[in-house]
Order: sequence, then structure tokens, then C-alpha cells
Amino acid sequence: MARVLLRNGRLICPFTGVDRTADVLVEDGRIAAVGHGGGIVTENAEVLDLAGKIISPGFVDLHTHLREPGEEHKETIATAVEAALAGGFTTVCAMPNTQPALDSRITIETVARRSEGLGVRVLPIGAITVGRRGEQLAPLGSMAAAGAVAFSDDGSPVSDAGLMRRALEYSRPMGLPIVTHAEELALSAGGSMHEGAVSARLGVRGIPAAAEEVMVRRDVALAEMTGGRLHVAHVSTVGAVDAIREAKRRGVAVTAEATPHHLALTDEWVAGWEDLDGDGRPPTALGERAYDTSTKVNPPLRSRDHVEAVIEGVRDGTIDAIATDHAPHSPLEKECEYGCGAFGISGLETALGLAMTLVGRGAATLPRLVALLTSEPARAFGLPPQGVREGARAELVVFDPEREWVVDPSRMASRGRNTPLDGHRLRGRVLLTIAGERVWRSPELEAR
Ligand SMILES: [Zn+2]
Repeated sequence: MARVLLRNGRLICPFTGVDRTADVLVEDGRIAAVGHGGGIVTENAEVLDLAGKIISPGFVDLHTHLREPGEEHKETIATAVEAALAGGFTTVCAMPNTQPALDSRITIETVARRSEGLGVRVLPIGAITVGRRGEQLAPLGSMAAAGAVAFSDDGSPVSDAGLMRRALEYSRPMGLPIVTHAEELALSAGGSMHEGAVSARLGVRGIPAAAEEVMVRRDVALAEMTGGRLHVAHVSTVGAVDAIREAKRRGVAVTAEATPHHLALTDEWVAGWEDLDGDGRPPTALGERAYDTSTKVNPPLRSRDHVEAVIEGVRDGTIDAIATDHAPHSPLEKECEYGCGAFGISGLETALGLAMTLVGRGAATLPRLVALLTSEPARAFGLPPQGVREGARAELVVFDPEREWVVDPSRMASRGRNTPLDGHRLRGRVLLTIAGERVWRSPELEAR
């Protein structure tokens, strides 16, 4: 690509506060001009007429599992980047639960180096404890110096409250957040799905909502005591939303994210009762895809009351950002009994379509949704703003909020095809993603 003129789209840029019909000229990976009404005259540019389409800054994912190093049969940095582009993401924050864990300067630098030249910004998150074993604090300072943007033992909680306290104290002067995977293992161990009426009916051991809430409340108390910055990953329960809302009112430095699947799917999907409209028909028999391990995720898909509370948290600002928790697995880890399956949903490529259900049900406007995917996650982690302005590196996504499409895992760019959305119709389709010189196009994008 040398020159592309994005013409006549609705530019929604929460970083600059712009929401208007606009033309954007991209030249050699940079934004050469932003104008409107055909004011940009250029020769030798490919012109894309984007009437009815949205132009926004590239999406920012605070929670991506790359699987490299160590589990390349599930995903590599390169395939995750392709999935990110197909999902509209130009920045992904990489969780450190790789093998080895990202718990040192060397491992952080390795991920940064392997990601160079791929277009998408890959920002590593360092582990809180050595090997993510929850025993000894990892060298947070040298990881920060090497480019870590946050710290987390995600996949596992930091069960030792004293260690969590020290992590919050040490990271505070660095200004980097501690990301909590809030799970009290004494309550959750052995569970595979949300504990409630559906798990009882299916005979699957449950994970109670309290396993999340007690840990969020502990970590909020520690953040309040230390003045450290806390970010709560994948909020999924009434109690966690309440705890974060109360903490914010008291002025605690806490931010939070919710995943698209926790905002749109319930535990009924585990029984094969797949309903994206939330019209709550009372099911009678198990659905065709009951016990499908593609619905197995941690925290688990929750019951409707919890889903409603998380949506309300997004609506009132308790939840700052939408993050995918993209967790690709191979069939090896998923084609087995429900209790044995690995936790995780491959989420980068369906994120927009699922998040758009918030707009469909009136819980968010389109500009607010764009903010939840761009400026709000950037703010939560203190990442530099990536506004659509002249001279900036081109980090853009074009999407059609009305376009419907059917999820086909065999066509996903991610190596992880583990999605419960196989065959489901989503509304909201990414058509074009530009990450510097790297341009990803949907086959559905018509050039003129
Ligand atoms: Zn987690």
C-alpha cells in the first residue's frame, strides 16, 4: 500500500473527540491528512467509499494470550497478530502465562523482539511472581525497564495476600497497574462452569460467583491500603461489579475490564441453549451442543443476573474497557469431556460482533462502544493516545456496524478455533485494519 483515501466514513475518534463524516488519507503507514467533504485531493491513491461505515482508531486489547513461547501449536505471535488485524485490533497486551512465563527482562525483550515488524503493537505484561508460582515476587523494575506495560499472573490468582500487597507497593512508583485474575481457588478448584441451576442440572461441578467477589474485595482493600494501581481482569459477577463501583466512589485507583463473551453469553450456552438475543425462552431439553467445551472459560459464563450486572457496569462506567481474554487452544485441549477441557475462548475475531450486542440492546451508543475498545483501555493501562490525526502512525479500523456475518471457525486467522459461536450470526464486521504499513482487508471490502 502506498496511498489509500478513506472517503466519506463516519470518523469516531474518542482520543480527539471527533465524531463526524470525514476523509482520511493514509500514506506509507502514516495519516497524511484528515479532512471532509472531498477536500483532500490526491493522485495515485486508492479510494474507498465508506458511506455508512465507521472509521475509528485501531482497537486496543488489554488481555491477549499469544501462547508463544512454548505452546506454538495453539497460537504464535504471528498468527495472533493476523487474528488481531482481522478483529480490528492494532494493539494487544500479551499475558505472561507462556512457557517459560514472561517473568524476567530477557523474556519480555524476547516477545518485544519477535513482534517487531508485524504492524500490530504487541505490549508484554510481566508476571507478578517468578514462574507465576505465587511464591516470590518477580523483578518488576527490570521488566518495566524492558517494556512491560503491566504485571499479572493471569491464569492464576496471587493467592498470598502479602505478596499481592508487595506487588502493589513496588509497582506504584512505576505507575504500572497490577492486573488481578480474581479467583479464590479454595472455592473454585475442580469447577468447570458457573455454579447455579444449570450446573446442577448438567451435573458439572460449579465455580461460585463468590470465588471472584472475595478476591476482588481483597485486592481492592490492598490497593486502597497501598495506593497501588489495580486493574481487575474479566469481571463476571454482580459482587465484583459492586465492589469495583464502591471502590471507585471511594477514590481507589482501580480500573476494570469485561470480555465480549461475559457481556453476551450466559451459562445456558453450556446446556446448548444458545441465545444471543437474551429473550430468555425457558428451555426444556438439552441443546444439540450441550457440554461443548468451547463454552468452557475462566471465569465461567455466568447466569443472566450476573451478565446483566456486568452490562450495567459498562453502562455506568464501573467497567472501563472491553478486553478479549483471547485464549486459543488446539483440539488436543478441547476435544474431551467437559471437566477435562481447557479453559478459554478464541476471541479476537468475534470481539466486535459480540460487543455490538451492547449497542443492539441500548446499553451503549456507537461512540461509547468505540471508546470501550480504544481510548478507555489505553487510559486504563496508561498507554500513549493513538488519535486519528495528521502525522500520526496509521492505526485505524474500518467497520460496518450493520453488516451481518456468520462465524465460521475454519476461516479464522487464529490457530485457536475454540469458539462457541460456530454458525452464529453476528452484526458488526471489520472491513479494513491498518497498523502502520500493515494493511488487512476483509474480502467484503469493495474498492472503487
Ligand atoms: Zn484470567
